[in-house]
Amino acid sequence: MADVKRVYTFGNKEAEGNGKMRELLGGKGANLAEMNLIGIPVPPGFTITTEVCAEYYRHGKQAVIEMLRPEVEKAMHNIERLTGMKFGDAQTPLLVSVRSGARASMPGMMDTILNLGMNDQAVEAVSKRTGNPRFAWDSYRRFVQMYGDVVLGMKPVSKEDHDPFEEIIDALKARRGVKNDTDLTTDDLKELVRSFKEAVKRQTGEDFPACPWEQLWGAVCAVFGSWMNERAILYRKLNNIPAEWGTAVSVQAMVFGNMGENSATGVAFSRDAATGENIFNGEYLINAQGEDVVAGIRTPQQITIEGSKRWAKAQNIPEAERAAKYPSLEEVMPAVYKELDEIQHHLEQYFKDMQDIEFTIQDGKLWMLQCRNGKRTGAAMVKIAMDMLREGLIDEKTAVLRCEPAKLDELLHPVFDKKAIASAQVITKGLPASPGAATGPVVFFAEDAEKELARTGQKAILVRIETSPEDLKGMLDAAGILTARGGMTSHAAVVARGMGKCCVSGAGELEIDYKARTIKVNGFTVKEGDWISLNGSTGEVYLGQVATKAADLSGDFGKLMELAGKYSVLKVRANADTPKDARQAFEFGAEGIGLCRTEHMFFEGDRIKAIREMILADDEAGRRVALGKLLPMQRGDFEGLFKAMNGFPVTVRLLDPPLHEFVPHDEKGQREMAAEMNVPLQKIVAKVESLAEFNPMLGHRGCRLGNTYPEITEMQTRAIIEAAMNVKASGMPVHVEIMVPLVGNHKELRYQKQIIDSTAEQVFSERNDKIEYMVGTMIEVPRAAVTANQIAEVAEFFSFGTNDLTQMTLGFSRDDIGKFLPIYLEKGILKNDPFQILDRNGVGQLIREAVFKGRGTRENLKCGICGEHGGEPSSVEFCHYAGLNYVSCSPFRVPIARLAAAHAALNQK
Ligand code: ADP
Ligand code: MG
Ligand code: MG
Repeated sequence: MADVKRVYTFGNKEAEGNGKMRELLGGKGANLAEMNLIGIPVPPGFTITTEVCAEYYRHGKQAVIEMLRPEVEKAMHNIERLTGMKFGDAQTPLLVSVRSGARASMPGMMDTILNLGMNDQAVEAVSKRTGNPRFAWDSYRRFVQMYGDVVLGMKPVSKEDHDPFEEIIDALKARRGVKNDTDLTTDDLKELVRSFKEAVKRQTGEDFPACPWEQLWGAVCAVFGSWMNERAILYRKLNNIPAEWGTAVSVQAMVFGNMGENSATGVAFSRDAATGENIFNGEYLINAQGEDVVAGIRTPQQITIEGSKRWAKAQNIPEAERAAKYPSLEEVMPAVYKELDEIQHHLEQYFKDMQDIEFTIQDGKLWMLQCRNGKRTGAAMVKIAMDMLREGLIDEKTAVLRCEPAKLDELLHPVFDKKAIASAQVITKGLPASPGAATGPVVFFAEDAEKELARTGQKAILVRIETSPEDLKGMLDAAGILTARGGMTSHAAVVARGMGKCCVSGAGELEIDYKARTIKVNGFTVKEGDWISLNGSTGEVYLGQVATKAADLSGDFGKLMELAGKYSVLKVRANADTPKDARQAFEFGAEGIGLCRTEHMFFEGDRIKAIREMILADDEAGRRVALGKLLPMQRGDFEGLFKAMNGFPVTVRLLDPPLHEFVPHDEKGQREMAAEMNVPLQKIVAKVESLAEFNPMLGHRGCRLGNTYPEITEMQTRAIIEAAMNVKASGMPVHVEIMVPLVGNHKELRYQKQIIDSTAEQVFSERNDKIEYMVGTMIEVPRAAVTANQIAEVAEFFSFGTNDLTQMTLGFSRDDIGKFLPIYLEKGILKNDPFQILDRNGVGQLIREAVFKGRGTRENLKCGICGEHGGEPSSVEFCHYAGLNYVSCSPFRVPIARLAAAHAALNQK
């Protein structure tokens, strides 16, 4: 333990760490080190490792401070040496920031403290040294405010209230009759510091700490403490970040963007994070500090002239007014802008990915404070990857791996119908912060979005003056987010883009009244519960509900899918029961149907009557009459499916569910059945009762139906074979696979196969023609998996039905899991819902064994999966490793599965 290194310094183009050490230094700390190493101006500092975070939770606050003290004091001396200032000194006080940083970026999750080291003496010294008392006191009041919020836990009293410090500021502004923070005088700021400290004393009972070292240890420990706060835990859960990782803490010399008109602070992206367009863009504020830009308190200005003009156009601001009131950085500080532009380009070329950067200009000198690979929407993700591939910055494999399978989902979402938009009532316009189309009832508080969803299943539009990390859960449960303040880099915008959620930000015309729960805008009044629609691509806000339509898939999407196909080994099929679904799946690139559930065809129109007649019949003769009615309908459906798949394989599963699912349980339905079949009502009622089972999922279903009523298998086989022969006769190739469900014993399958083969032979002899077909089975009963060697003697293919297989392997009823699953997840007994993410150690082992034993009997046995898991990226990866030939999933997940299949193959080496 003695020689563990806990602190890594950086500064003046040197660093003990580097960009590869994300695990130890966090993303922020690692990149601060790396930026130094590649010669970018970064204020000096040091990073305390993520391992110390675990020590903090193991040994407690005091012990960790003692462990850290020698190294931190030494590292602080290094900053002092590089800056010529001294931490805690009365004449030349060094001020620092204390920043958190996990391995994966968690924007807005943990708070940064700026200007630490400030106290009554330091403020005088800073004031004297800079000759700028206003700046000194502004820095001091910011420090007391941030430290009070983050370390001392000063909280708003109720949800309608602001932060207690903001309340004090607002009251002072009102008294002084000014609007902006920048209008406050030095004396105002002094008064604020005094009032803030009094508020702290009132609420916490303690004096605000004046000793810089006490402040520093308080802040460092608060960062570690924040790792376990509610919103950090929620963010980790949403993004699958393990709690064990911990956060690093970076302590860094302050540079000041609030020193006056020649100072500024800002954030920027090397490409457009919403659309992916290759233009440098971002926002800045003159005479501001830290997160003023993203906090949405003042309206930030654009960095480039082009961006500024676009912004003004969206806000209906004339050019003259824009140039006078909201000029771009490019116009205001051309030399600094040029340097910034060079740095962003350098960083993008160096990291070979879109960069999200944070910077501060202190009295005309540019300092970089952060860079990271920027979060982006699904659309931007695909465009940036394909653009960088064309630019030669990355190769094909990297481009494929850059695109996260689950995020493709956003591209498949509906967009507004153009005609509907043309006639919609626009009530205002904000910034197109995160694209998409959202419509829903208005709510004003995050918890109301949660409640609305829970109560009505309807996603709401969350309307806020500005959002904060506390709103995360509500944002997740909302259809879209609308804010009055904040720019393209505001909290709402960044988080919404990360979630792939539609967001319009900075709609400054909105007058939001939280107490009355109303919005007033341009003569309209919108109350809580009224519907509005948001266009995240244009920033327009419409009154009422605007109609949507399916998204078009752009050229870059097609290119990505082509590359996915090139690098994957697994094929992707779709689960489709109707010709319409099959066509959709074909368009998304499915190479076949892995599961057609024939029973889904039975619910349409009159068919249900025929199937009920079949079920309720007394004897084989009665059943055959009813089956005769179903035959032409099924044949027609199969023809449609075969045509839609144009020669790709189609797996048709024979009837599977327990029969009582089809019979009428209400009296009206039973009466109709009685009339239809011309029997007394009582007979129908008795029959329905006789079909009830204690455990229907383990009852009379699957191949047990076909083995007790062979005429059902006969009819279905005939429909399949005749359909295939008809389509083939029309000149289209057909590839038929007939699948027997719920086999646990090879004799069950043998019996079914005999019926299928003899029926097919009969059709062939009637038509004097032949086609190829295969007979295989689902592997969904654990016994089938362990006796796969015997089953493969009969089966020509296996398809893993992982829904039933999971249910039977774990002994969890899928329909009753709600009572214990949440608790199991919370207690860590289960890591995931096994019905969503394949249980590799249990179900996965059965799959591996079945593949191994099956191929032992039949060398080229084709194996696939058709459960819900077939479209879930980590399960697809498992299927690749298990050596399956294909996965099959719902049509809308086909692109996701194709990309996941490519990832699995590329990550294998
Ligand atoms: P987050 O993780 O939320 O992005 P950061 O640690 O990046 O938090 O801090 C937020 C902002 O605070 C930065 O973007 C920067 O503007 C400001 N900041 C942090 N450290 C310093 C510093 N040493 N000097 C000046 N500003 C700083
Ligand atoms: Mg922050
Ligand atoms: Mg930051």
